[in-house]
Amino acid sequence: MPRYSITTFGCQMNVHDSERMHDVLRCAGYTEAGSADEADVLVLNTCSVREKAEQKLRSEVGRLARWKRERADRVLVVAGCVAQQEGERLLKQMRAIDVVVGPDNIPELPGLLGDLAIGGLPIARTVFDLDAPRFLVASPPSPPSPASSSSPRAAPTAFVTVMKGCDERCSFCIVPYTRGPERYRPSDEIVAEIAALVAAGTREVTLLGQTVNSYSDPLGALPRAPGASADDPDESEFAALLRRVAADVPGLARLRYTSPHPRHLTPSLVLAHAELPALPRHVHMPVQSGSDRVLRRMIRRYTRAEYVARTRALVEAVPGLTLSTDIIVGFPGETEDDFAATLSLVREVGFKGLFGFKYSRRPHTPALKLPDDVPEGVKGERLARLFEESEALLAAHLSSLVGTTQEVLVEGRDKERGATGERGPGGALWSGRTGRHEIAHIEGAEELDLLGEVVEVSITRANKHSLQAELTEAARAAARPRQRGGLEARPARRSLPVVAAEGG
Ligand code: SAM
Repeated sequence: MPRYSITTFGCQMNVHDSERMHDVLRCAGYTEAGSADEADVLVLNTCSVREKAEQKLRSEVGRLARWKRERADRVLVVAGCVAQQEGERLLKQMRAIDVVVGPDNIPELPGLLGDLAIGGLPIARTVFDLDAPRFLVASPPSPPSPASSSSPRAAPTAFVTVMKGCDERCSFCIVPYTRGPERYRPSDEIVAEIAALVAAGTREVTLLGQTVNSYSDPLGALPRAPGASADDPDESEFAALLRRVAADVPGLARLRYTSPHPRHLTPSLVLAHAELPALPRHVHMPVQSGSDRVLRRMIRRYTRAEYVARTRALVEAVPGLTLSTDIIVGFPGETEDDFAATLSLVREVGFKGLFGFKYSRRPHTPALKLPDDVPEGVKGERLARLFEESEALLAAHLSSLVGTTQEVLVEGRDKERGATGERGPGGALWSGRTGRHEIAHIEGAEELDLLGEVVEVSITRANKHSLQAELTEAARAAARPRQRGGLEARPARRSLPVVAAEGG
């Protein structure tokens, strides 16, 4: 049986696409190789949001040309956003590549590999499925049988796509060109996928979309959400979708989403946060800049004051809710005053997490018309100052949690997570996330089986980016003992080789 290996660059959307590629390849009879060296087919799932990510692909293909030369039947596939952006050009520029496949063409991958195996020429397939959008569904393992604790179970956390593409035209962003226009998935399908995951053991679902909160049901199957205004052009059906998932899948412990756009943080969404216990007390809300002048040039379609008012309404509706964000530094024309406005916004909102990026010129984007006039050194220096500010806010926040009790969804075993196979900080065996998305390492629970459980912990220490915790007495008394073989039978989410974004 041919063996494959997938390397993923970029965002959660790409991680999710890679999981679907695993599914389609396995269904077509391929098995996963232990390493790239053992693989017959190697897939690079690429990101082109910043130039650096695209350069990584080019150097990776250069390195893999030798891997290909070692055996004539080896196949190199380039998937994802660079594949969509460059198409046939990639085949002409880099002879080592055999197949170029866009995000909407993943189901065709086995067929393209089959054609190649019988003598077909290298091929690029990058066609958006505009007329009949396809949303690939993960096949969760069968639900656990009550008779056996060792039945296969789904991972505690999963992604579910609700929409793809993007209709915003942020002047810096290549996504509308690599992912196409917005297409939405019917809410019935979304609910059915989540219900199947939960029946198989999943506790937390993250709804995925490029502007996830612009969602609208293509079949018109959702009632208007409480608080939704018929006159507000920024209103969507996202709050209605959240309400439907919470009502129809009551066993779902946590319902997250990413990435929302601030424009669609409307009163109906705030109300959903206030009323649905499954929505955790953390939202990632990309702001990009704190300067109105820069926001206008970025075509973000909100002002700083609107962003602050909308996020403040959310925090007031859900006490203790934390926010994280994305920020670009060095956008064309960004002055020291503009950047100072960004720093002051970070302090004003009090973000507890931040992904920062140096502006990078991307093909097809409107900002190409603007001169990239902030010197590289200044971009680097602003990014460092931004991180300094956000690290201080995070450190103060994590320290404030020491001594508190939190609920943690246990996502996996720490020793599986470290690249070297070691345990987490303090020798912790288990780790997971609090309701606010802080990472917590749980010490002193080696003899217990906590995977997929929501457990109560006391926070004992703050690390730089995470928390150290212990089970409360009540949680310890309620926990299941670890059975021989039990851990191995209940896998954590597949760990894909992910190359993180700059600053991420
Ligand atoms: N759709 C989301 C939005 O705009 O709200 C984010 C999607 S993008 C994959 C993730 C982040 O990358 C963006 O929020 C932005 O901060 C950053 N980014 C996008 N284009 C960029 C560019 N040309 N240069 C630097 N950073 C960029």
